[in-house]
Amino acid sequence: MTKHPTTRRSTIAVLLSCLSLGVGNVRAQLPDFSRATTLRLSSVEEIAAEFSAVPCNNDDRLAAAIALFEKLGAPRREINLDKLGVAENIVVTLPGTAAHARTEQVVIGAHYDKVSAGCGAFDNWTGMVAIGHMYRTIKSLKPSKTIVFVGFGKEENGLVGSRAMVDQIVTFDTDQRRRAETLPRRRSSPLGGS
Ligand SMILES: [Zn+2]
Repeated sequence: MTKHPTTRRSTIAVLLSCLSLGVGNVRAQLPDFSRATTLRLSSVEEIAAEFSAVPCNNDDRLAAAIALFEKLGAPRREINLDKLGVAENIVVTLPGTAAHARTEQVVIGAHYDKVSAGCGAFDNWTGMVAIGHMYRTIKSLKPSKTIVFVGFGKEENGLVGSRAMVDQIVTFDTDQRRRAETLPRRRSSPLGGS
């Protein structure tokens, strides 16, 4: 379909104004980095070292992913293992500071199991390394919203771990606010220790 030039220019102008409004809103929601005196950013060398330490055996990936979170500052007692059918998801929750943090949670996930060929360095140890380092950086910012970091299991078997997690989340609804106060977890157990 051919648009009239004037109409096209108007459309572009509207889109640009929406874009600038959007950018403004995003900026307004970002933390004030200049006041974050303890911001912890990972160096390229630190991230590269984790990539090169990829476990090539699928059976070793769960323990390695847990160890990665611990190394990057997650206390062992805050690392949960959700056993959902055949999948085991690693769940590390970073509690938000705001009052609404119990009902507004952001999930950041990657799968720790690997593709059948090779060491699975790209698919998907890169994802696990990324969310591990994101955990450490975001933790240093003390976010207002609760951030839930999840290492999904059995994703290469058909997204088993992530589907199982979604299935157990209660849909948020004002009439069901009390039920939706937390992301429910069945058969979830902390690893213990400190
Ligand atoms: Zn994958």
